[in-house]
Amino acid sequence: MLCVKLAEEGQRLSEHFQAREFACSCCGMALVHPELVRKLQGLRSAIGAPVYVTSGYRCAGCNAAVGGAENSYHLFGMAADIWVGGSARCSWRN
Ligand SMILES: [Zn+2]
Repeated sequence: MLCVKLAEEGQRLSEHFQAREFACSCCGMALVHPELVRKLQGLRSAIGAPVYVTSGYRCAGCNAAVGGAENSYHLFGMAADIWVGGSARCSWRN
């Protein structure tokens, strides 16, 4: 498990993904499971188009504020809502 305290530090998690992309929108913390990054990078490589993370890690407060499930995978850095240029929004989780 990767825990990034200041997601804006620019830490690169894979070829196309940086820690800040997974940061909680309210506090900037990012908890990211390596398997999530591996799968997202695999998707990115397979489709050859940018994959945008619209919601990655959520702290408990943020998860409650957005109406997330009590045990949402977002709380554990194991889920990401993504957007691929020209596609509908969808959810991706381990
Ligand atoms: Zn937060």
